[in-house]
Amino acid sequence: SSFEEAKLPDEVLQCCKSFSKPSPIQSHAWPYLLDGRDFIGIAATGSGKTLAFGIPALMHIRHSVNQKTTRRVNPLCLVLSPTRELAQQIADVLYKAGKSCGARSVCLYGGTSKKPQISALKAGVDIVIGTPGRLKDLMRMGCCRLQEVSYVVLDEADRMLDMGFEPQVRSILSQTCSVRQLVMFSATWPPSVHQLAQEFMDPNPVKI
Ligand code: AMP
Repeated sequence: SSFEEAKLPDEVLQCCKSFSKPSPIQSHAWPYLLDGRDFIGIAATGSGKTLAFGIPALMHIRHSVNQKTTRRVNPLCLVLSPTRELAQQIADVLYKAGKSCGARSVCLYGGTSKKPQISALKAGVDIVIGTPGRLKDLMRMGCCRLQEVSYVVLDEADRMLDMGFEPQVRSILSQTCSVRQLVMFSATWPPSVHQLAQEFMDPNPVKI
């Protein structure tokens, strides 16, 4: 329950400098997420869940980047959010957190021009944060390719399904890399979310 215990590189923990210790969800989630496990977190906003999944996302990128010499264009990490506001909030946190380790992110949501989002995708990104509708649009246009995505987060999974995004979420998940780590955060645990986890996760995900 200290940042030293997490044994993370300084550049990854830079964004936590102002915090005295990891929040409970962070100290519980990090060891499993860094170990590559599928993970279900029942946690509300305000618990520090963004960095609970965000710091392991940065570590995931570091590992993959170390293995490759060529500059990658397609994203490695995907965070799906039910609303534009939440997506922007997550993107803001991950943008700041990723700066010190050179992680490039883009936030994709509807109700605004696709142009800057397409330019960012063309330039190359490591992390995509998005709402299901706009992401599907950009995938259909061939502007966003998910085949290299091997770390996926469904944030507020219950709300995402309540809002009717289940077909999009399924279709998006099916286009990510077949060897991938799936992380779900949800405030509640209804049968629809349970079912999705059963279909898309390893048989024994960690549930906290
Ligand atoms: P979240 O649940 O991710 O929306 O985070 C809620 C708030 O908690 C944000 O303002 C974060 O900056 C803050 N926060 C995240 N991690 C910690 C931590 N380890 N200690 C104190 N505050 C934190």
